[in-house]
Amino acid sequence: MHVKMLGCGDAYDPKRTNSSLLIREGDFELLIDCGPTVPQALFANAMTAEDISCIYISHCHPDHCLGLTTLLNYMKSFKRSKPLSIFRQASQHQALYRLMEFASWPEKGLGFELYWKDSENLTEIGPWRAETTPSSHSVPNRSLQLTGQDATVFYSGDGLLSPQGERFAAQADLAFIECEYMTAANGHGSWADVKDLQKKAGSRWVLYHIDDASRLAVADAITGHAEFSLGEDGREFDLAGVMA
Ligand SMILES: [Zn+2]
Ligand SMILES: [Zn+2]
Repeated sequence: MHVKMLGCGDAYDPKRTNSSLLIREGDFELLIDCGPTVPQALFANAMTAEDISCIYISHCHPDHCLGLTTLLNYMKSFKRSKPLSIFRQASQHQALYRLMEFASWPEKGLGFELYWKDSENLTEIGPWRAETTPSSHSVPNRSLQLTGQDATVFYSGDGLLSPQGERFAAQADLAFIECEYMTAANGHGSWADVKDLQKKAGSRWVLYHIDDASRLAVADAITGHAEFSLGEDGREFDLAGVMA
């Protein structure tokens, strides 16, 4: 299981790509979230139109989905042939469907099969067991846990973790946690909320989607907490054998 953090930024980060992960095992590649600045990071990553097998959208805030139009338009233009699956919440389908329609406008159809799948009750994505749980956010967001042969990865998406989200994070070898602020805030993760969560021995916790004005303070706060680090655009994690 190989994880690349394409972006660690929040919605309005002046310097960083919107929060997004690319997770690969064998020839299966999952893109998690696709804000407006994510396609450029993918292009810089030397992608081809066939590379991504599946997309997971945590929630329909623009910084997590607006890049879909550009990415699907790219796949259409470069004549992708293999099918693509997109996991999203059923209640958010209409917003995403419009982004998909715009990708081929004024034509209809992308030239490849697109399968929309509900994220509420999913049990697997590609080679991994998968589960989701809602967080507390201004737009319904679902946190994602993926378990492969080697490791368990958790991605919070935006929002304050639910009790189930905290359990998922506690099982993870690698946990990506939204940490917008230092102090507890409605609808967002914060250092105050994340610092004392239960953690698996040897696990790594990556804080991301940090308000630019809070980043220095968060960097300072994690000093002395070896399991925590800050998300960085382009940071890679190899998880082969962490469970061995
Ligand atoms: Zn966001
Ligand atoms: Zn959001």
